[in-house]
Amino acid sequence: MAVTLDLSKGNSNAPTVMPPLSEATGDDKPSLIGMNRDELREALLSVGVADKQIRMRTGQIWNWLYQRGVSDISGMSNMSKGLRDELASAFTIGRPEIVSEQISVDGTRKWLFRFPARGAGRPVEVETVYIPEEDRGTLCVSSQVGCTLTCTFCHTGTQTLVRNLTAEEIVSQVLLARERLGDFPGMDDTGPKGILVPQEGRKITNVVMMGMGEPLYNFDNVKQALLIMADGEGISLSKRRITLSTSGVVPMIERCGAETGVMLAISLHAVRDDLRDELVPINKKWPIKDLLDACRAYPGLSNARRITFEYVMLKGVNDSPTDARELVRLLKGIPAKINLIPFNPWPGSSYECSDWEQIEVFADIVNHAGYASPIRTPRGRDIFAACGQLKSESERLRIKDRRALEAAGAAE
Ligand code: SAH
Ligand code: SF4
Repeated sequence: MAVTLDLSKGNSNAPTVMPPLSEATGDDKPSLIGMNRDELREALLSVGVADKQIRMRTGQIWNWLYQRGVSDISGMSNMSKGLRDELASAFTIGRPEIVSEQISVDGTRKWLFRFPARGAGRPVEVETVYIPEEDRGTLCVSSQVGCTLTCTFCHTGTQTLVRNLTAEEIVSQVLLARERLGDFPGMDDTGPKGILVPQEGRKITNVVMMGMGEPLYNFDNVKQALLIMADGEGISLSKRRITLSTSGVVPMIERCGAETGVMLAISLHAVRDDLRDELVPINKKWPIKDLLDACRAYPGLSNARRITFEYVMLKGVNDSPTDARELVRLLKGIPAKINLIPFNPWPGSSYECSDWEQIEVFADIVNHAGYASPIRTPRGRDIFAACGQLKSESERLRIKDRRALEAAGAAE
């Protein structure tokens, strides 16, 4: 299914919109991607692998999936043909369909992936964004389709929750992005022996759970996916290079640190409860004080492992020097970085981005208090890939799909 976005109006520097790149397999067998070691063990036992071989086979399969990037079980050439056939008859390692790939004039890429229905689930479309920078390449991964929360400045927040993503779907975003970026080592058929994950020259060096959705409302699946990303036999990214961003699901923050060990980012955006209640409505449930107490207690917190506080700059709303000073006061004693995000407008949004001078005044106050406070340069604006803009195409497709389904239903 092709998505046609007219992004070129009046823009000679038009981004690239690619035609559909792959078709969904339509395979409803369970996927080996995203399984933890226990699940993979059960899967292997079910196709007759002997107990004493499970460890070795798990290592081989993970190596093929996550380090070499095969997308067909028949390509796992260091396993017997019989075993590959058994596995392929019961399981899949198929990738989602790439509905569209857009490349911004600044090199940012946005994909719309379509995952097939597996079991009782329904097909869903998910957006993933890659942001190349000089010293790193960051993949912004989605955890849900839509969001249950309704932050007023966020485009995803205008879309209701369609469903949680599975661990397979979360990990697959990374695999497919790596494949499209040429981020897997050259494939050959000699087996995984001696092949190391290249630590130098990787295209995706960092993952941020900052796409669509609230990751702490899908904790089990997100955790399973993050542990595969961080595993030395899995995608092998350092936990210091994986960041989970939350709007403030306070009761889950401790578990996030204790059970995943990844870096934490908090979408703070306001320093007074009355304003935060409005901008980030989850604040009514867990106000600023409770949120910051949970941050102070975040497992593993130290000056070397700081919490990032995200603060979207909304003109005339939360961007005064008084707000900046209050921010500094609130964060006292918490090892913190402050990320100032210029507001990314979207069609129909009622906010404006603060003026640049205002952002600089704000940043200066925060800097003088000793906090690093980079101002995040908006990336991929021409393809609506910036923070908080992930929504429109998915919804459009969903409406289209829904109409098609309704039409099909009416014809019955
Ligand atoms: N649900 C999680 C993670 C996804 S949102 C959370 O809220 O933290 C990722 C970041 O983008 C959050 O800090 C969010 O507040 C911010 N964001 C959302 N909409 C934005 C917009 N229009 N402009 C700039 N940042 C935005
Ligand atoms: Fe959901 Fe995060 Fe957007 Fe709020 S900012 S609506 S929590 S995705």
